[in-house]
Amino acid sequence: MSGSATAVAAALRDRQSIVLTSHARPDGDAIGSCVALALALDRLGKQVRVVLRDPVPEPYRALPAIDRVELNTHVSGPADAVVLMECSDLDRPDLAGLEAYFIVNVDHHLGNGMYGAVNWFDVSAAACGEMVADIIDALGVRWTSDIAAQLFLAIATDTGGFRYGPMTARTFDVCRRIALAGVDPAGLARQIFDSFSVGRVKLTGALLNAMELHHDSRLAILALDEDLLNACGATVDDTEGLVNLPLGAREVVAVALLKRQNGNVVRVSLRSKGDVDVRAVASIWDGGGHRNAAGCTVAGGAAEVRDAIVTEMKRVIDAAPAAR
Ligand code: 5GP
Ligand code: MN
Repeated sequence: MSGSATAVAAALRDRQSIVLTSHARPDGDAIGSCVALALALDRLGKQVRVVLRDPVPEPYRALPAIDRVELNTHVSGPADAVVLMECSDLDRPDLAGLEAYFIVNVDHHLGNGMYGAVNWFDVSAAACGEMVADIIDALGVRWTSDIAAQLFLAIATDTGGFRYGPMTARTFDVCRRIALAGVDPAGLARQIFDSFSVGRVKLTGALLNAMELHHDSRLAILALDEDLLNACGATVDDTEGLVNLPLGAREVVAVALLKRQNGNVVRVSLRSKGDVDVRAVASIWDGGGHRNAAGCTVAGGAAEVRDAIVTEMKRVIDAAPAAR
């Protein structure tokens, strides 16, 4: 842990126009963290923009204040600060122009580059949203139900529906206060987790049907490409979170989802249980993330990349104490 909510709040209190952003292909934590903090800063009379590179995934679009998210390829014009949530480096948002600004860096991923003028880094947070809750308190802003709903989005998604990551008493204390702020947790959870397209449900079946198992079924490999998406009537937006499904099997301790992109490049999402460190695999190809959830982009053909990933994943499975 380094930095603090108090230091971040002090930097924001002193500044008037503030841009909030997070990584490209934003997940629930990226969106919830940005929008919750935007709503809190609104209440202090700040000029606030939330700028993201890629669209909000479909299931999250019905949440309150989602229209605060502005899509762009760059940040320009005057701003007193740019806050990056969940970003290990200044390139993760994939927005041009960030170097020019006073940067505030708020993150819970191991390996953060401490690239900001103000840095708060806390790997013990289950979600960046948990850190945002502290920042909002340090700013002295009362939680509205809209703020609470966005914090819930951040925490519920980053913990995979309260199943993994470093969940602590603090996580549940934030959730307790979310409930007190007047949101309906079950209703929100249905909106977040059960609002997919039919194409997504079909894709789930097709992907799992073609799942490969390796290493005594401890490793599952899922693969998809444009043809499979088309056959199911699904889009790339429908793939978010599917990588977690094989972990539902008792034997499976690690999963790789390989998405073939145009131009001989494969986007790799990795997940694991317990001590299996998939971040170590992602870092081989300059990716990153957490021990149990990481990602990277690998150049090469589908079969070649699969073989390389299988080899490295077996290595981290064997290296984990519980798997020996
Ligand atoms: P996902 O598989 O959902 O895309 O990503 C899982 C986790 O790994 C997230 O915490 C995400 O921020 C991180 N991650 C995914 N891809 C990359 C990458 O290319 N670089 C870095 N530094 N982190 C990544
Ligand atoms: Mn996160």
